[in-house]
Amino acid sequence: MARFISPTLVGLIAAAALFSGTARAGDCPGNPDALGTSRTLVVDPTQHPRIGTMQYPETLPLADHEVVLTFDDGPLTKHTKPILAMLDAQCVKATFFVVGKMAQAYPEMLREVQAAGHTIGTHTLSHPLRMNRMSIDQNMAEIDGGIAAATAVLGDPSKVAPFLRIPGLLRSTEVEDYLQSKGIMTWSADFPADDWHRISPARVAQLAISRLEAKGRGVLLLHDIQQRTQTALPTILRELKARGYRVVHVVPATPDRPKTPTQPWQWHLHPVEPVIAAGNGMRFSFAPQTIRGTSKQNAMAAIPAIPQKTARKGPMLSPIWGTAALAGDDEIMSVVLSPLPKTFRFVEPSGAAMRNLAGKSGAPAE
Ligand SMILES: [Zn+2]
Repeated sequence: MARFISPTLVGLIAAAALFSGTARAGDCPGNPDALGTSRTLVVDPTQHPRIGTMQYPETLPLADHEVVLTFDDGPLTKHTKPILAMLDAQCVKATFFVVGKMAQAYPEMLREVQAAGHTIGTHTLSHPLRMNRMSIDQNMAEIDGGIAAATAVLGDPSKVAPFLRIPGLLRSTEVEDYLQSKGIMTWSADFPADDWHRISPARVAQLAISRLEAKGRGVLLLHDIQQRTQTALPTILRELKARGYRVVHVVPATPDRPKTPTQPWQWHLHPVEPVIAAGNGMRFSFAPQTIRGTSKQNAMAAIPAIPQKTARKGPMLSPIWGTAALAGDDEIMSVVLSPLPKTFRFVEPSGAAMRNLAGKSGAPAE
C-alpha cells in the first residue's frame, strides 16, 4: 500500500511527527486561549555543557520573549499533581529536575509527569546543600544515584534527560567537570522567583514576571514542592500569555532526534538595557564591553536569595561573553518596541479562587 502514498503525504506525515508533542497556542484541546508550547528546542549537552546566566556565560538559545519553565525538588504528589494539571490545561511543557529520593517516594507521580510529555532531568539523590564542599566520591554517588533512582522508576534510561541542576546551585568546577564527562548538561537558571522563601504567592508571581521582563527571555526556576508556587502558577501562566511570551520545551538530542540548529551567539542572553539611539534616532547598537559588565552586575543584584558565598566559589561568571554576540537590527528593534505593561498589579486570588486552584491542599508547606 505504501506505493499509493504521495510524496506530499509523506511530507505531511514527517511534519506531523516533527511537531508531535508540541502544542501551539490556539491548538490546545478544550482550551482555545491556552498559553501553549510554541516550539521544542533540541539541545546537545556535549556541545553546551553549562547553561543559565545566574552562574554561566551561556544560556539556552532563546529568542526574545521565549521562556523555559523548570520545576525542582519534586515529585511531591500534593503539589506536583495540581501543578501538572495546570500545565496540561494550558498545553505547556516544562522540565522537572527531580530528586532521586522523592522519585522513590512518589514513583507514580513521576511516571505521570513523564507520561504527560514533560522533560525529566535530575537534581541528585538526596539534595545535599553542600556539593561545593563534598568529596568527588560523594558527589558522584549523589549524581549517579539520582539518575539511577529516576531511571528505575521510569523503567527506561531514555526517559531521563542528561540534564542536571545542582541543589542550591552550589556548583564547583569538580562537579561540573564530572557532569560534562558524562555528557550531562548542568542547568543553572536565568532567574528564580524566590519561591522557597516565606513570601506570598503574589510575590512569587511578581518576581517571576518582573525578572523575566528585565531579561526578555530565559530559564525560570520554580519548585513543585511549594504551596505558594502552586498558588502562583495560574497568575504566572496568565501573565506570560498576556505579555506575549512563548513557552519553549527543551529536550536532549539523540541519534534519532538531531539538535536544533543554532549559532554560537544565540547561546548568550542579550542585554536588554544597553540599547543606544545613534545619529538619526532610527539606528540602534549595543555597547559591547561596559554595558555587558553592568548587565551581569544587575543580574546578580536581582538574585539576593543566592548566598554571596556561592558567588565567591570559583569562577562564577567567567569572562567568556561572546565577542560575536551582537544581535541583528530586527532583534534589537523588537526589544525596543516590545510593550512593557506599566499598570499591571499582582493581587492575591480570592479565597474561593485559591481553593479552586489549590485543590484540597491545606496550609502552605515549607
Ligand atoms: Zn533543589
